[in-house]
Amino acid sequence: MNTDYPVALVTGASRGIGRACALELAKNGFNIAVNYMRDEEGANETKRMVESEGRMARIFQCDVSSYGETQELIDLIEKTMGPIEVLVCNAGVTRDSLFLRMTEEDWDQVIDTNLKGVFNVTRWATRPMARRKKGRIISISSVVAFTGNPGQANYAASKAGIVGLTKTLSRELARYTITANVVAPGYISSDMTDRLPHEVQERLKNQVPLGRPGTAEDVAHAVAFLASDRATYITGQVLFVDGGMSAGGV
Ligand code: NAP
Repeated sequence: MNTDYPVALVTGASRGIGRACALELAKNGFNIAVNYMRDEEGANETKRMVESEGRMARIFQCDVSSYGETQELIDLIEKTMGPIEVLVCNAGVTRDSLFLRMTEEDWDQVIDTNLKGVFNVTRWATRPMARRKKGRIISISSVVAFTGNPGQANYAASKAGIVGLTKTLSRELARYTITANVVAPGYISSDMTDRLPHEVQERLKNQVPLGRPGTAEDVAHAVAFLASDRATYITGQVLFVDGGMSAGGV
């Protein structure tokens, strides 16, 4: 493996926004650690796509909600690929249900993956970053962290938690030249949203001033910017990629 290039770890990179981030970061000169949980075929496809951009990729199966597994994940990437310079915490799930019907399992699964997952991976990745005094943490939240959304109490809470976590990290880790920022997508076409009933998709589309759902690439461009040398002085911020959904204020 050519370890001359910096390494970016993208969690949940077997498809959708995570895959697009992996590709965009590869185009911007990073070797990519492709994390996935179930979809090995999708992760291998992301790997092939990164390689076709002339960069190296390796796939790493890991459940981000597991504290122990994420420690092994970070150790293994650092040993086999080199220092992680950029961490993109993208892995996420939904278990939608109106609050009065929401089960403890729906709540725990979403919080454990979306919020504790960011804690876990960041916890292990920031130690070596702090030693090297270099790192970028970019976590994917959502516009619903700021607006709420009926049926998504668990998801909105997990995504709002990411914002508070990131703002605190930006203050604690600045002394190590580590920046921490959030990208908050609005309504993006992906497996996650293609599963929604047609009328819900239409309602969401009507809430977007630019009149179309975003693409995974729209989100990836913002992530690549925050990972780039052009963003060295930006930390603790939320960058909305939502076609104007939050323009009226959040
Ligand atoms: P997606 O197509 O459903 O992909 C989710 C990814 O997360 C998959 O690669 C999946 O991997 C991975 N994943 C799920 N649970 C995991 C776990 N426990 N450990 C490791 N990986 C896990 O979703 P997406 O639309 O691309 O969304 C990506 C991120 O953007 C999520 O955090 C989502 O909340 C956020 N977001 C999406 C939208 C939107 O409109 N799509 C809007 C705002 C925010 P496996 O398949 O291998 O399990």
